[in-house]
Amino acid sequence: MSDQPKAVREIRINPVVPSESVLVSTARGMRPRKEEAPAPRDTRKHVEGCPFCTGNEHMTPPTIASSPGQDDWQVRVVENLFPVLGDDSRSTNLVFGLQQAIDGYGRHEVVIDHREHGIAIQDMSVEHLTRLLGMYRDRIRALYAADRRIQYVLVFKNFGPAAGASIAHTHSQVIAMPVVPENVYNEVTHSRQYFEKNRQCIFCSLIDEALTFEATIYDRESGSVRRQFSVGQYVIERGRHFVAIKPFASRYEWEIHILPLTHHSDFMDITDEEREDMAGVLRRSMARLDAVIGGAQYNFFLHSIPHNNEFRNCHDSYHWHLEICPRTSIPTGFELGSGLFVSTISPEQAAAQLRAVELE
Ligand SMILES: [Zn+2]
Ligand SMILES: [Zn+2]
Ligand SMILES: [Zn+2]
Repeated sequence: MSDQPKAVREIRINPVVPSESVLVSTARGMRPRKEEAPAPRDTRKHVEGCPFCTGNEHMTPPTIASSPGQDDWQVRVVENLFPVLGDDSRSTNLVFGLQQAIDGYGRHEVVIDHREHGIAIQDMSVEHLTRLLGMYRDRIRALYAADRRIQYVLVFKNFGPAAGASIAHTHSQVIAMPVVPENVYNEVTHSRQYFEKNRQCIFCSLIDEALTFEATIYDRESGSVRRQFSVGQYVIERGRHFVAIKPFASRYEWEIHILPLTHHSDFMDITDEEREDMAGVLRRSMARLDAVIGGAQYNFFLHSIPHNNEFRNCHDSYHWHLEICPRTSIPTGFELGSGLFVSTISPEQAAAQLRAVELE
């Protein structure tokens, strides 16, 4: 695909949240990070003492929801045994941000993604992933409806020890929070500012750019071509309704975002047809990631419009999306201290590698 990509060294500003930036430096020797050792994946189908495996349902707190039914469940939701947010403590005076919310009011649920203990997303069927996305939607809806104080319901998944998964059985989590997490807060407020200036959703603009961008950058002194952007160079996968892109300035080297192609602010409004399409895009994106980086450990987060008063006028400016953040290396003190993350592969090269994978 790409013949000898030119070395890139530049600081890229996240267009959605300008306070976040990444140093893209592909020069050899620019390897400040320690590689995260790929964790051997637990691929067992059933594990005797695992509370999330079939036959051990009595080992978990009672089932909150299951699909399709209780006994033949394919996806099951239970209360988290070690919730970061609980029903019992009443909170006042919370500042936004996950840390401050830890003692707060909320709900914390665990979604057992699949009956099979060690199955990866890319090995689940599209039908199953459609069901899983439907369960996310149903839980978000139920949690918002249950308590008006809830401002945000965060769905996320940790896969692999480097990503913080403490139980090997594939699962994701749903946390209903009395505050809006800081990164979502920043996205919503910055995209609102962009909308006020440009009368356009910044995410829609980024999708348009990802799909059509074409530009040549010339060297100021010699006039030689420094870099060429070509059509769709950030696109990794697309379906009828969804696109998976490699963001132009992302903190994680293999980060992928999945967005609806047409403007939608709330994941809760996803239709059945869209859900199936998203399941396919997610499955193929994860298969590409797995083929390129092997045994991906990752987090994914669903970012959707918060349900609070402050953001009730942001439906035109915010665009929901799923962020997939593979953990391939450990952030250095420099990165944590400066907030400037370093990427040793350019997002364009990463996207090209992911696109080049031949899927069955
Ligand atoms: Zn299990
Ligand atoms: Zn949009
Ligand atoms: Zn986001």
